[in-house]
Amino acid sequence: ALLEGTLALVLSVFFGVACFRRTKSGLHHELNRALDAGEFVAYLQPMMNREGTQVTGCEVLVRWMHPELGLIRPDRFIPLAEDSGLIVPMTRELMRQVREAMGPRAAALPPHFHFSFNIAASHCHDLSLIEDCRSFLAAFSANPVNLVLELTERELIVPDETTIQLFDELDRMGVSVAIDDFGTGHSSLVYLQQFKVDFLKIDQSFVARIGSDALSRHIVDNVVDLASRLDLSLVAEGVETPEQAEYLMARGVDFQQGYLYGCPVPLADFWLEAKLP
Ligand code: C2E
Ligand code: MG
Ligand code: MG
Ligand code: MG
Repeated sequence: ALLEGTLALVLSVFFGVACFRRTKSGLHHELNRALDAGEFVAYLQPMMNREGTQVTGCEVLVRWMHPELGLIRPDRFIPLAEDSGLIVPMTRELMRQVREAMGPRAAALPPHFHFSFNIAASHCHDLSLIEDCRSFLAAFSANPVNLVLELTERELIVPDETTIQLFDELDRMGVSVAIDDFGTGHSSLVYLQQFKVDFLKIDQSFVARIGSDALSRHIVDNVVDLASRLDLSLVAEGVETPEQAEYLMARGVDFQQGYLYGCPVPLADFWLEAKLP
């Protein structure tokens, strides 16, 4: 109740008290309204190959286009969307936007193009994710792509029967699993035992300090070592400078993502900015 109260207070200050009643149900109502109004929009950020020379995929990041407040970043509303269960239809809507925009043009994508979606802990207990992933992949059946689900660590994912069934089926469908923000939180290493993981995404806080801090370089080196021992692909996120990119390339990190290569942009702009054929 304290947490709810704090969230409600923070949000009502942030959005202006006029927008919301200071209740949880008021905030949930506002999120539902936004979903119905089509205000949640998929942005794409390019993911590059090891050398940083080719776009090999993208991460889908949600933005809330609020009619009065403009663009709202996900950190402001994802926790509430998780809490209210709205995260499930919201993710479905993002998948729909991406497949409708990209499906018809899939032939122009490089082979084995990756589409990476962030999946909340609460979503890992919901079997409807299977159908959503199936629909996504079906839109690319003529030119198959790789679908990756990034598990984030805001809340610990405690696998139950449903989770096991869900990830078994997703695995059979060829859907990949990434551990996001690897190295932060307390559960990353446990996830390696609990899920059949394909990718590690080393957290951007380590990448950011490559140039300034030997400890961060050691952590990066150790994650590279871990990924290679476990035969996992490694993605570095938050790459901003050529020096960071050089370091990661020299260590053999498989994929890079960050402002150095491209910011998250609306679907329509991705084709232009990512210089796809
Ligand atoms: P994340 O999945 O770790 O995504 C990376 C975040 O870093 C994104 O912030 C991205 O815009 C930002 N970023 C990318 N490159 C750079 C860089 O070079 N430097 C810096 N400083 N930042 C960079 P964003 O889009 O604000 O998303 C924040 C977090 O919100 C995400 O972290 C993810 O955990 C969550 N999120 C975003 N979209 C979704 C979604 O559709 N569903 C769920 N469940 N969570 C989402
Ligand atoms: Mg992510
Ligand atoms: Mg991350
Ligand atoms: Mg993050």
